[in-house]
Amino acid sequence: MRLEADCSNCQSKVAFNTWEETRADYARNKGKSVVLPCKNCGLEKEYHINDFTAKSRVYRILSKIVLFGLCGPMAGMLGIAWVASGFDLYVLVNGIVSYSVFWMSVPLLLYTILITTAKRREKAYNSYQVKQ
Ligand SMILES: [Zn+2]
Repeated sequence: MRLEADCSNCQSKVAFNTWEETRADYARNKGKSVVLPCKNCGLEKEYHINDFTAKSRVYRILSKIVLFGLCGPMAGMLGIAWVASGFDLYVLVNGIVSYSVFWMSVPLLLYTILITTAKRREKAYNSYQVKQ
């Protein structure tokens, strides 16, 4: 999980990665505070673990790769086929029905699973606050 907080000096993001899945796990294993330097202004500060918001970066990046890497080219090819046919509506409709629905359902399903996983992981982390 990637944990992000705002630098109190310049408001840019200070972040680090951890394997802990919840704040409670983090507090138990590594303590309630983290000292981090800001990459932008250099201010080194102690942050409470509650100051961080979890971002499931790996799952979010994977979901974008699936969406733009698979759905994008497929939609693009359909667009090219439509233009090449002289904007024949039949080609477009037939393409969407027979080809896109079939070939795009897999990456779209994968995308949905990945983004749901990312949100579930973030919620699991963010919903619990440790005692100050
Ligand atoms: Zn800063």
